[in-house]
Amino acid sequence: QSIVIALDGPSGSGKSSTSRGVATRLGLRYLDTGAMFRAMTWWMLEHDVDVHDAEAVAAAANRPQIVSGTDPSAPTITVDGTDVAEAIRGTEVTGAVSPVSAVPEVRARLLELQRAVIGEGGIVVEGRDIGSVVWPQAELKLYLTADAGARAARRALEEGGSDVAATEASLLARDKIDSSRTTAPLTVPEGAVHLDTTPFTLDEVIEKVVALAEA
Ligand code: C5P
Repeated sequence: QSIVIALDGPSGSGKSSTSRGVATRLGLRYLDTGAMFRAMTWWMLEHDVDVHDAEAVAAAANRPQIVSGTDPSAPTITVDGTDVAEAIRGTEVTGAVSPVSAVPEVRARLLELQRAVIGEGGIVVEGRDIGSVVWPQAELKLYLTADAGARAARRALEEGGSDVAATEASLLARDKIDSSRTTAPLTVPEGAVHLDTTPFTLDEVIEKVVALAEA
């Protein structure tokens, strides 16, 4: 299987669970590009780089060595050999990732890493700009959305019971920065199937995507 499936959308739209489920079903690899931006952000915080200083972030963008595992049943990510899978989900990284992701040098660096992984084929890739910038030639492109309330409820549950209202505020703040930045803003890629996941269960969404991939 050399098919590439690009899955874009805002936070909490169900991208991660859907991507992993689809990759498992179809025997494909899986790449979480959001985790790469989070890993980059973790490194910046760890090295006391001011994440709101775009020049400082740009100057450091080539320093971290980020390696993503692509097994959908056990995704891994390391920075300079350190396992950061848990650390990148913390509120500190979540609160700092959008400004770091808006820096063109960060995007250029990660784009290179992403294309190297995707180029081997047979993969489901989730992010914000996969179908538009990273891999526009993907055989199947999807744009997942869901109501803000539903997205916040799902994310809060994933985070082990965080406050839903606070989660929604943080998620909407990130959406705003992600959609309005000048480099690779979050948009519906040309040719993407737009899927609103609000009324569906995870299994139903996976089923729909598998059907599209097999069509
Ligand atoms: O998907 P996740 O919420 O983990 O992504 C974290 C952040 O990484 C997003 O809010 C966005 O700023 C950034 N991101 C991006 N481009 C991608 C994936 C993620 O800018 N392809």
